[in-house]
Amino acid sequence: VAEIDWTRARENPGELAAWMLELIDESPDKLAILEVPIAWADDLNGVEAVFIREFDRAKLERPDLGVKLTAGGAERPDVALLIAVHEHQWVGGMCVHGCRDERTVQ
Ligand SMILES: [Zn+2]
Repeated sequence: VAEIDWTRARENPGELAAWMLELIDESPDKLAILEVPIAWADDLNGVEAVFIREFDRAKLERPDLGVKLTAGGAERPDVALLIAVHEHQWVGGMCVHGCRDERTVQ
């Protein structure tokens, strides 16, 4: 799980996108989990805007990226939001990460 400096990410377009892809490449599950600390809970819209900008940028390089957002909840009261980004891993037309996305078999 990686904690992000969202202010820095906002001011440096491309940095978070590159880092996201690095984490995915290093992970055997092709999964990167980014956390939004509770300190940012009041500005989740701002964080989301930065994330979407960076996710779209990463997706230009890797069109097969998927994302899931979950709240920290009782287990992680210090975390406002967990952002799980992964590269889909297709087996028989379904992603092994249980996404709803299905690849059209051509
Ligand atoms: Zn997937």
